[in-house]
Amino acid sequence: MLFTSLYIGVIWFTILFCRRWGTIEKMDCIFCKIANGEIPADVVYEDDVILAFRDLAPQAPVHVLIIPKEHIATLDDVECSDEHRELMGHLMVKTGEIAELLGLKNGYRLVNNCGEDGMQTVKHIHFHLLGGRKMGWPPG
Ligand code: AMP
Repeated sequence: MLFTSLYIGVIWFTILFCRRWGTIEKMDCIFCKIANGEIPADVVYEDDVILAFRDLAPQAPVHVLIIPKEHIATLDDVECSDEHRELMGHLMVKTGEIAELLGLKNGYRLVNNCGEDGMQTVKHIHFHLLGGRKMGWPPG
């Protein structure tokens, strides 16, 4: 009886610990799997800290997702730390280079959907780089 209670206690603790630190979220994250090569993607740019790959359901002639390799769930989870400042700054600087690489000479749109109202479906921060046609405004 004591051992059963202990066993159940350890399992609950593990589940709560994993949830608290987002371990389960990271394990299930499709973009983390793309970043570590578990799931294939049409990669257009990669370096040590970011990855850009074509969206599976393109909404424009060019539709690329740019992500940090580190699992950060949403824009709200970006911290004010030196690491995150450097990472997000790097991602922004590289976005222009990626757009150029993809031939988007006439402009493009960069979109981040954040949280429920922003209609974010994949909980790993990503920026949609859309181009190759004139965009509409306001967005839906
Ligand atoms: P969001 O709705 O802003 O979270 O955007 C998620 C985007 O990820 C959508 O545009 C999906 O088409 C795209 N997506 C989901 N799974 C994959 C995948 N395995 N490879 C490429 N794009 C994907």
